[in-house]
Amino acid sequence: MDLSRHQSFLIGNYAPPAIEIVKGLGSKLWDKEGKEYLDFTSGIAVTNLGHSHPIWVRKVQQQTAQLAHCSNLFSIPEQVRLAERMIQKIGPGKMLFCNSGAEANEALIKLARLHGNGNQSDIPKRKILVAKNGFHGRTIGALSATESPKYRKGFEPLLNDFVFCRLNNTSDFESNIDEETCAVLIESIQGEGGLHVSTDEFLLELQSLCRKHGLLFLLDEVQAGIARTGEFLGYQKSGIQPDAIAMAKGLGGGFPIGAIWANEENASLFTPGSHGTTFGGSPLACSAAHAVLDIIEEEDLINRAQEMGNLLIDGLNRLTTEFPDCIAEVRGRGLMVGLQLKFDPTELIAQLRCNGLLSVGAGGQTLRLLPPLTVTEKEIEQCLIILQACLSKIDS
Ligand code: PLP
Repeated sequence: MDLSRHQSFLIGNYAPPAIEIVKGLGSKLWDKEGKEYLDFTSGIAVTNLGHSHPIWVRKVQQQTAQLAHCSNLFSIPEQVRLAERMIQKIGPGKMLFCNSGAEANEALIKLARLHGNGNQSDIPKRKILVAKNGFHGRTIGALSATESPKYRKGFEPLLNDFVFCRLNNTSDFESNIDEETCAVLIESIQGEGGLHVSTDEFLLELQSLCRKHGLLFLLDEVQAGIARTGEFLGYQKSGIQPDAIAMAKGLGGGFPIGAIWANEENASLFTPGSHGTTFGGSPLACSAAHAVLDIIEEEDLINRAQEMGNLLIDGLNRLTTEFPDCIAEVRGRGLMVGLQLKFDPTELIAQLRCNGLLSVGAGGQTLRLLPPLTVTEKEIEQCLIILQACLSKIDS
């Protein structure tokens, strides 16, 4: 690929890429030279149906021909119907649509502000408890909720409303609650932070803590959501019911869309003019999301993510036994899986790519595997064979 041309015209906010992708189908991607790759990144948990799923393609094409955009000045039937479908999957409440994960989290942060500013006492409640190692996006608000200096460097001072607490440590969260605290915001499974799973017990305890102190319980399901972990949303296994939830990534299957769900009480905190976005919930974005929901239902992708995820995790556990000097731990759930390595994963990711497997790094020396939910047994086997070969080379 012509890296110098790439670098001449594009701002260098991403690491220089090694390959140029021009085509995708199912779990496969092809570069400009025609080399085929097994895509275990899914555009970082976006193309959950695989690339160019025919039903998704048809629906997006049809909607483009009918009506792509018209603004929220008007009621959009696809948006109303999408909201209804999402509420059926999540619980009684209401939806608000936007365009990305960071934007969905911004809406949650604004909801927490409305909740905190509406309290009866004179003290403004603006503090939100978040987890160390979490990641919520790159806008100033979402970045303020993200602890890692890797993302914050150069942008400080950020909002000082966020208190970073240890994941799966309820007493750390509890000890940081004071009269200014208004909400808790966490991921059910930390993606960027290194595939750390919030335990069911911790989520239930956090929920009780929020109820006891009148805090909003906010979940960031941007990466773990939309069937990826073997539940429609990652937290649903634990039996909790948050007050509001951020979603994006997999919801559009490759077309940008973000969303929040809020329970009835908190949804009403937003009033006409209090929040908005030009593109959020356009007919085209909502049609893409309808296709995603249709295919998840028709192809039973929630169960499939569980089944294929178990297969992948079993195989990775076998590799952990075979390469104890390379792999420290396998973490994750469903098809959101990470291998904690005993070395920086950059070289392994490059070797896997040369051997036809695309993967992505995550915090704490973690190699992240996010295949499409339509991945086949054979493709998982292929992934394990490539990983085994590359680990053998590194191990020797
Ligand atoms: N929240 C989580 C949990 C994420 O993983 C991400 C992106 O990786 C975001 C928010 C930000 O989403 P976006 O990149 O769409 O703004």
